[in-house]
Amino acid sequence: MGKRDRLAQLLERTGALRLALGARGRLGSPWLTVLTYHRVAAKGSEGLFDAGTIDVTPDAFERELAFLKRWFDVIGMDDLLAYRRGGKLPGNPVLVTFDDGYLDNHAVALPLLREAGLRATFFIATSYVEERRLFWWDHVSYLLKSSKKDAVDLTYPAAQHLPLGPTVEASIVRALRTIKDHFDLDLPRFLGEMAQAADVSLDREGERRLTEKLLMTWDEVRELRALGMDVQSHTGAHRVLQTQPLDVLRKDLTSAREKLEEVLGERVQTVAYPVGKPIRSDHERREVVRSAGYELGFSYGTGVNLLGRLDPFDVRRFAADLDVTPELFRARMALPYI
Ligand SMILES: [Zn+2]
Repeated sequence: MGKRDRLAQLLERTGALRLALGARGRLGSPWLTVLTYHRVAAKGSEGLFDAGTIDVTPDAFERELAFLKRWFDVIGMDDLLAYRRGGKLPGNPVLVTFDDGYLDNHAVALPLLREAGLRATFFIATSYVEERRLFWWDHVSYLLKSSKKDAVDLTYPAAQHLPLGPTVEASIVRALRTIKDHFDLDLPRFLGEMAQAADVSLDREGERRLTEKLLMTWDEVRELRALGMDVQSHTGAHRVLQTQPLDVLRKDLTSAREKLEEVLGERVQTVAYPVGKPIRSDHERREVVRSAGYELGFSYGTGVNLLGRLDPFDVRRFAADLDVTPELFRARMALPYI
């Protein structure tokens, strides 16, 4: 057990946690907390897809929602947009968000949210839903985990030796690192070369079939909205903003917003940055996000927001984590700097 877990247990045992939570409710919180989830599923149920996207089990999600309902004011995106324009937030605000557009968001998270009477915002990577494509991290994972070879050797964008077998997870992480970091990577070329080197054939029909078990359809996305959830943009291509030329980025951000507006029949004004690296001091990219029609941009894994100092193009978000104990979850919600 780690130091933070022990501290969380101590806070709970001594009643300090309840005191802190009660004070946040009574006196008003200095922070806006935004929680981020990707998939709600049983641990280890990813099969050939990426293991890292399952960040909460259905049981834990249900428990976390009950905790939020008891101690916090769960707000919607319209509340945050109104705050941004000078309105007020409730005393102890928290926003629940989901990234990407996984099917379990609709099948598992939606019923639990409705049962709790709470709202969440779903950020959708539009090209994948529209074209029935596997997300690139699931695509890489599928290729490397299905390969019968001992290793995969790549030449583009640089020579890379990826051992499979027992170390496949480490190789997946390395391959994903290339996609996350390499400027202007030709992604179809990278994935095509990987499929060839792995000797795994994945044609369009095969990929389409795989997405049926993994991604929502537009009908399901529309249903989220019809049942009171918020649906917003997670870009189209789900590429790291910093790795994209500005004109490519502008086009992608704009077309993703327009696609969602067409699907939902309403304005879409916020975006969650893929992978979530902040653009705090990147003035060019901030301007691209703004001029593509967005009022708020969300980063990821960046902590909480001090109210009164909310950066509209770096709204910070907490990352959910399958390995966070219930005690640590509650402690971090009460006192975010634990
Ligand atoms: Zn994402």
